[in-house]
Order: sequence, then C-alpha cells, then structure tokens
Amino acid sequence: MSLRLPAQIKQAMLVHAENCYPEEACGLVAGDRRGLRMAYPLTNVLASPTNYTIDPVEHFRALKHAERQGWELVGVFHSHPHSQAYPSPTDVRLAPDPEWVYFLIGLADRDRPQLRAFRIHDGTITEIDIEEETR
Ligand SMILES: [Zn+2]
Repeated sequence: MSLRLPAQIKQAMLVHAENCYPEEACGLVAGDRRGLRMAYPLTNVLASPTNYTIDPVEHFRALKHAERQGWELVGVFHSHPHSQAYPSPTDVRLAPDPEWVYFLIGLADRDRPQLRAFRIHDGTITEIDIEEETR
C-alpha cells in the first residue's frame, strides 16, 4: 500500500509539529478520491509532551470545512517531540478508525524530522509507504 503525499500537506504537518514543540502537535487530514487535500493544524487540549487530544470544537469545524469542500476526514497526524515516528501503545489503544491514516512526526532529531504513515486495526500496526509529491 502506498500514499501520495503533496509537499504542502507534509510541510503543514512539519511546521505545526515544530511550532508546538516541546508539546505534541495534532491535527486532521482531509481527502477525496483524488488524494489528500488538506492538513488542519489543531490544538492539543492536553498541552502535553507525551499525549494529545484534539480540541473537539476545532475537530468539528475541520469536519464541516472538509464537507463543504466535498472532502472527508481520512486521517489524523500528531508529533512525538522526543521519540520516533512510530505509534505508541497509547496511540494503538486509542486509534478509533481502521480506515484512517495515522501520520506520525518524530522529532527525536529536530533537524531531521521523520514523517511516517500507518494504519492501526485491532491493535495491528501496518506502515503505509509515502510517495512524496513535489507540488
Ligand atoms: Zn503518539
């Protein structure tokens, strides 16, 4: 399985991760049949370096915005300020939707942020290959 990732969406996720450092950044990703369309940088109401909860009001607004564009929410992203871009046991336990793409940004080396994508289904983590688009 592979996923085409537009450069601007990757950039939006990395910028948000850096801006929220040393706390975890989080947000949602919208797409349609043509692919990924938008990353919404949202507020982590826990303001924590080790956990995140997306602000529910912002989550709702992102959903409404996506629907108005004819998109749907297809994934979530969050950062690990001090560790690798790999789902933690908590991430796996709380993963709500097997259809969603889980983007992880790892800032263990802040100068070289890692971005990886996964599906999480019934406690099983499957990595998705990312094909970066240049536009
Ligand atoms: Zn995590």
